[in-house]
Amino acid sequence: MADRLVLPGFVNAHSHAFQRALRGKVEGGDFWAWREAMLDLARGLTPEHVRTEYSAVYREMRAAGYTAVGEFHYVGFTEAEAAVEAAREAGMELVVLYAAYARGGLDRFRPDSVGAYLDQVEALRGTGALVGLAPHSVRACPRDWLEEIGGYAASEGLVLHVHADEQPREIEECLAEHGLRPLELLGETGCLGPRTTIVHATHADERELDLLADTGARVCLCPTTEANLGDGFPPLVGLLERGIPLCIGSDSNVRIDPLEELRELEGIARRQTLRRNVIPVADLITAGTASGGAALGIDDWPGIEIDLDHASLRGVPPSDAHAALVHGCGADVVTPSRDA
Ligand SMILES: [Zn+2]
Repeated sequence: MADRLVLPGFVNAHSHAFQRALRGKVEGGDFWAWREAMLDLARGLTPEHVRTEYSAVYREMRAAGYTAVGEFHYVGFTEAEAAVEAAREAGMELVVLYAAYARGGLDRFRPDSVGAYLDQVEALRGTGALVGLAPHSVRACPRDWLEEIGGYAASEGLVLHVHADEQPREIEECLAEHGLRPLELLGETGCLGPRTTIVHATHADERELDLLADTGARVCLCPTTEANLGDGFPPLVGLLERGIPLCIGSDSNVRIDPLEELRELEGIARRQTLRRNVIPVADLITAGTASGGAALGIDDWPGIEIDLDHASLRGVPPSDAHAALVHGCGADVVTPSRDA
């Protein structure tokens, strides 16, 4: 029997599974041009397509060591039910982060009102699915929607995920509309708290980071996607100094490898500080596992095993195995799951 290292499964706290189909497509000069290609893809989705395609994507995640996923879903109600079925088929624990989208995007993203949105959330919860609230962004949700959704999440004890500060243009538009930066607006509308996960926070300023620390919110970083889309570097030093909990996501699924996401975090932190070992390995593993579970509001998800006889781990003593995983391995060191 080969030597195995048992670990908690990695938690992918932020995924848009349909975007996996854009892997290898290099059109688009910037984030906004990429977004047009993404919207074209979203326009053509059907529940049947979601069920088969998402199932394949979740199997790819499962093979890479992710055993739970937060699917940030804005492509329709029936499609959300199909995503739940796809995850079940793939042996993946799934939380539907059901997105509220009031303006912009495609017709299919937008319920008629915030009340209609919350009715859909209730209906989805009624099916037994694990559900979180997901006002898409301050671009997509006006102030009254944010207030209503923040209040509902608090009263129901549900997690709330929101994209924020991914691109400078979003911040400029938020300042023009509200006189506030995105995280300030989310704070004012009751959307920041210990059950909140801010996705990206790439261009958050010091005051916004203080706000996250004060309210107990966490941040989901998606470094392979953030690199691919030209978002910028996350403010890792500011996040770490304040003790803001971090988790990871594969986001656009241009790459599906939790070890690479974690390695990127530490690599960015080293480049920013000109030091080594900025984030302890144990903290990186926690970001990839327990912190993601907390972000999704789940206590239980399958574990994984690492093949210590894998060529990537040759010559590594057991005491260095965790560090070698993060710094020197790809997801192919995860052994095929026995129960998926
Ligand atoms: Zn996203």
